[in-house]
Amino acid sequence: MSTIQYPQDNDLRSLVRFCAEKGMIWLDENRMILMHAAAMAALRKELIDALGIDQARRILTRMGYASGARDAELAKKVRSGKCVTDTFVVGPQLHMLEGSVLVTPVSLEMDVEAGRFYGEFLWDNSYEAEVHVGEYGHTDQPVCWMQLGYASGYTSAFMGRFVLFKETECAATGHNQCRIVGKPVEEWPDAAEHTPYYEADSILSHMLELRGQVDALRASLDRSQQPQNLIGSSAGFRHAYTLIEKAAATHVTVLLLGETGVGKERFARALHDTSRRAAAPFVAVNCAALPHELIESELFGVEKGAFTGAHASRAGKFERADGGTLFLDEIGEMPLAAQAKLLRVLQEGEIERLGDERVRKINVRLVAATNVDLQAAVKAGRFRGDLYYRLNVYPVKIPPLRERVADIQPLVEAMLQRFGALHDKRVAGITDKALRALKNYAWPGNIRELENIIERGVILAPQNDWIEIEHLFTEPQDFGSVQHIIDDNGSLTDAECVMENLCLRIVEAGVGLDQLEEALIQHAVKESRGNLAGAARLLRITRPQLNYRLKKKDAAG
Ligand SMILES: [Zn+2]
Repeated sequence: MSTIQYPQDNDLRSLVRFCAEKGMIWLDENRMILMHAAAMAALRKELIDALGIDQARRILTRMGYASGARDAELAKKVRSGKCVTDTFVVGPQLHMLEGSVLVTPVSLEMDVEAGRFYGEFLWDNSYEAEVHVGEYGHTDQPVCWMQLGYASGYTSAFMGRFVLFKETECAATGHNQCRIVGKPVEEWPDAAEHTPYYEADSILSHMLELRGQVDALRASLDRSQQPQNLIGSSAGFRHAYTLIEKAAATHVTVLLLGETGVGKERFARALHDTSRRAAAPFVAVNCAALPHELIESELFGVEKGAFTGAHASRAGKFERADGGTLFLDEIGEMPLAAQAKLLRVLQEGEIERLGDERVRKINVRLVAATNVDLQAAVKAGRFRGDLYYRLNVYPVKIPPLRERVADIQPLVEAMLQRFGALHDKRVAGITDKALRALKNYAWPGNIRELENIIERGVILAPQNDWIEIEHLFTEPQDFGSVQHIIDDNGSLTDAECVMENLCLRIVEAGVGLDQLEEALIQHAVKESRGNLAGAARLLRITRPQLNYRLKKKDAAG
């Protein structure tokens, strides 16, 4: 069985229906979506970067498995009367129709009743290999995880037993093609290395562990790369910084207020670094990033067996910050139950882990931050009034970037150095025009947004060259220098474009320059009901200039 011919796939093609007016695409009864491969590539990269190769591979394998299993149901339905090989190759044929990969069978031996299966296929044009190489270059391990999951899911559903496919060659490792081989899982001696990617697994514990590592790494990075954490000399900045310096000498609880992206964590860290606690840990927690059911165990710790899934005792952030500073960002998002516990910790100076009777003394300075109006949250019943008063002993408002225009240039210079080093790119600097645009912009996302824009500029500007406006802003309406108007058709368009259209229409209508001037002047005089000063204003000329033109006209007439 070396050459397997695919039957015509018209039966499969006819199952695909595009219903744009309903906003739906169907493959028989399965809803499908037509998605950009680039979007999948971006998702894949996000997964790899956020969760690491193993978790990303597991998620994508399982995604592929689910879609393969769906297609196996379809195969049995559409080719029920056909021979088993023709029915089975619905899988490879759909995989091609769906745009993943070109599949060429090398060998296929199967007996559904006896549970025997051996399949070997060559893959060309693997989309996963393509996007992986595009993002990361060639690798030493096969990377077509989702497609392999599809093959395993399809075959397992078809055979009614777990058939595991392995990629023995992959285009991403430098081969011309990918090669996959599938056998029942029991027949693979090294199955245990592959089956974990098919298993559901709580990634939460991994995430928590990773977050701890990230915190530690970030702490060390911030110290080594930014000895000067805070940059600014504007009045608003200096006022806030003075308050921080004064608080540093004491143990007072500090509440940082300000819009999103103003750098509240940096202020908190500066407070820690200049305090007597500097040698002890600085621990940051974003309350909005934690699921409500996890927030208490994260903050206060958990004792083994406190709830299902608590396999080991774990110290909370309070214990980890002992002797140092705990920064609670977006405290307004904290659920009420956790607020009650937090209040008790602040009052007693001691914590109890979840599921533990023991009370532990802790010595932590709390710095809380919020970008919402906590007083309003208290009124609305979302935030405890007693906790609010405890936190609001020493509020410090960090001004938004638009009130710190004087700081933009020094901030940009520091960012150019940092991102230049990060991306191994030297830029000469930023043009005046671009800097002006930065100063005119309203910065709803504050310093974080400035960082994003400068990073993009560093990437887009040519090596050793200047960053220009178009390297910074993708949408020109983001800053004030281009004017937009609603045109005759109700579309938003810029002023230059309107003038162009107007000229075109005047010339097309055969109107001469003198005629145009006369018509404009008459129009303005009529609009201002004979008031010549008003007419001059409408025409954006001075009254004497208008007089001169009127006289000229009279003389000619
Ligand atoms: Zn591959």
